[in-house]
Amino acid sequence: MLSPTQTQKFVDEMWMDSIVPELVEYIKIPNKSPHFDPDWEANGYMEDAVQQIFAWCTAQDIKGMKSEIVRLPGRTPLIFLEIDGTDEASEDTILLYGHLDKQPEMTGWADGLGPWIPVMREDKLYGRGGADDGYAAYGSLTAIMALQREGLPHARCVVIIEACEESGSYDLPFYIDHLSDRIGQPSLVICLDSGAGNYEQLWLTVSLRGMAAGTLRADVLTEGVHSGYASGVVPSSFRVLRQLISRLEDEETGRVLLPELLAEIPQQRIDQTRAMAESLGDEVWQAYPFVEGTEPMAEDNVNRLLNRTWRPALSFTGVDGLPSLDNAGNVLRPHSSLKLSMRLPPTVSGEAATAAMQKALEANPPQGARVSFEPDQAATGWNAPNVAPWLHESLQKASQSAYGRDVMYMGEGGTIPFMAMLGDAFPEAQFMITGVLGPKSNAHGPNEFLHVPFARRLTTCVAAVLADHYQRDTA
Ligand SMILES: [Zn+2]
Repeated sequence: MLSPTQTQKFVDEMWMDSIVPELVEYIKIPNKSPHFDPDWEANGYMEDAVQQIFAWCTAQDIKGMKSEIVRLPGRTPLIFLEIDGTDEASEDTILLYGHLDKQPEMTGWADGLGPWIPVMREDKLYGRGGADDGYAAYGSLTAIMALQREGLPHARCVVIIEACEESGSYDLPFYIDHLSDRIGQPSLVICLDSGAGNYEQLWLTVSLRGMAAGTLRADVLTEGVHSGYASGVVPSSFRVLRQLISRLEDEETGRVLLPELLAEIPQQRIDQTRAMAESLGDEVWQAYPFVEGTEPMAEDNVNRLLNRTWRPALSFTGVDGLPSLDNAGNVLRPHSSLKLSMRLPPTVSGEAATAAMQKALEANPPQGARVSFEPDQAATGWNAPNVAPWLHESLQKASQSAYGRDVMYMGEGGTIPFMAMLGDAFPEAQFMITGVLGPKSNAHGPNEFLHVPFARRLTTCVAAVLADHYQRDTA
């Protein structure tokens, strides 16, 4: 039996003496994901991050660990750690996942903070990539070490730290394939790159939304014309876009209209969402930096959560064809373009949704304008298999002893592109998808922080699950 107090003591020491100082250095490295730093190889920041984390991993006192930086030609590197199980004859394997590439800077950082400036304030470590997802390698190994120090048995563990996640994990399938013999067939996948509803209990992600995105463009003129001469005769390309967007969503409520983008919500997920709404109360919407007077969507917190996890929703993330305000002359512009970003329910195919959007947008263009929708790579979401009784029991016990509250099962509104892939690759596996991205932690935005006390307890929960996994009754 794992001793929660002893484990927490060891984990806390590791965090304060070793992990936090490591993350402070790690935050300083602008190792942006390849998508945001196409010259990542020449710039060398990725390599700096890989070397830093790898050096720490290999310096730890872990029995039976083999470590390697795997490099497939033309791809981002991957840290691969194999730790023998206590029972060396058993092939039973746990896969632990994290990533070390980062989102770009973003604007809006508060005074004294910045993406590459580590700052510790009130137990929160600010800076890019500490919470998303630099801590994962450190947390995973610390959990394994906690078991070994207490002499507790564990299954074989494989730790994968990739460097392409923020670009859609496009290199990961090649590594999973390349390493498939060494990975084996994990019975448990632990992923430390997800969210938390608050900092007061253990949160398991049981679904992720998918994504259909692309650029919608309307052309009406071959060149811009004085608006005093053209308006009233030439249709506005912006108005054409407005009409087209109304084919996708109700402009009053934001409700998505295309039937291909809707999914039936499983009853179990509705029940779990109710429990989550009860636990969070109005934090569900108060967690956002609303401008005063702006009201949240939907009529109640259950529906706000369902909107965010099981219903499609459209955002506009970029624009082209419109000059900036200080360059805005009185001209009827030749074209307008918008980047559409449609979040999808977990069970809707990203490809099918993209095709349905394209069809709806390009059919019968208003006033015969030239309309095109150029899709981006689609992503399909993920709905977890049912949680096995041993895992639920283990999570519940771990959450109670670390936080004094029940484990919560939540849908996540974002996409973790590789999850659908891992779900397909390991259909028999159980999944512990969790993370430290709680309220205001703001991964991808300004003022990203890692809530250190929460992360320490989460590390202990991971250790508890590793221990219970070995003792589980699979009958
Ligand atoms: Zn991440």
